[in-house]
Amino acid sequence: MKIAVFSTKPYDREYLDKFNIESKHELVYFDAPLNSETTNLAIGFEAVCVFVNDVIDKKTIGKLSEIGIKLIDLRCAGFNNIDLAAAAKYNIKVMRVPAYSPQAVAEHAVALILTLNRKTHKAYNRVRESNFSLENLTGFNLYEKTVGVIGTGKIGAAFCQIMLGFGCNVIAYDVFESEKLIQKGVVYVTLEELIKNSDVISLHCPLTSETKHLFDRDAFSKIKKGAMLINTSRGALIKTSHAIEALKKEQLGYLGIDVYEQEENLFFKDLSESIIHDDLIERLMAFHNVLITPHQGFFTNEALDKIAITTLQNFSNFEDGLPLENEVK
Ligand code: NAD
Repeated sequence: MKIAVFSTKPYDREYLDKFNIESKHELVYFDAPLNSETTNLAIGFEAVCVFVNDVIDKKTIGKLSEIGIKLIDLRCAGFNNIDLAAAAKYNIKVMRVPAYSPQAVAEHAVALILTLNRKTHKAYNRVRESNFSLENLTGFNLYEKTVGVIGTGKIGAAFCQIMLGFGCNVIAYDVFESEKLIQKGVVYVTLEELIKNSDVISLHCPLTSETKHLFDRDAFSKIKKGAMLINTSRGALIKTSHAIEALKKEQLGYLGIDVYEQEENLFFKDLSESIIHDDLIERLMAFHNVLITPHQGFFTNEALDKIAITTLQNFSNFEDGLPLENEVK
């Protein structure tokens, strides 16, 4: 099958080529993102392969349909950037990689917590300048702290397991409760209770119309003073300007984010020689208690292998008319 692969970086090409055995599929790589302005790049292809920040709205899908695209394949788990109703209307199938390595993202969430909590980012920079003082490096133990997990699907469950291992009291909120996690010691509570009682809150639910801006001024006013908020899910779960307000009031004690609401203009690009026009992220970057990573939760060898293998399998299943187990409906 001939596939136009959008938003590609050298690592995407490396991993997809590694597993595209005997070049079964003809993959043509584009640096450009897929959006309503770039659909013409897919003329002559049967399928498009996309990533987290491609904009596959009604307009893009209408244009993809006009040029005969039959499949949109996401090389990620989240599908909030696709208008599924429009895809269904034009009879375009949507597939994804539902689980490539939940541990990769869960472990990254823990890395954000431990960096903020023990200030290792500051110590690293200090020691490089031969400053071995401990001033302002005081941290806090995670042991016996209350960690609130919102969304206990694949990543949230992996995260709960790690936090239980640290000796934390793990409380959770999800629209579906996991019996397995309850048996392991996770206690499900209401969202209100979780927000009110957690020392650390970690977000692992998808971005939907219900969860958009889950953390807004109202939610921040209810958190424990000085609590830590970690977001490795999707940027728009947090209303950024309200997070900034909460940080300024010292109501929010720490913020660790791997995702950001306006990340499509910034992330996955080297902008070190550019002027950043996004004042919100500039403000966030100025706080000593905010840690930002550029959507790298998924970025491990193990996850990249699995993403490439599943993505190629999705193409093959579609081409061979096999059941589409990774279809998003
Ligand atoms: P999943 O589908 O296995 O789990 C999501 C969980 O959220 C489910 O248990 C679901 O019931 C729950 N949920 C849905 N709506 C909810 C709501 N309103 N309130 C509370 N819980 C709700 O998904 P997953 O594989 O664990 O991935 C979670 C999210 O992580 C994805 O949606 C994606 O946005 C994000 N993600 C980020 C990265 C990264 O690199 N940072 C990588 C992969 C996935």
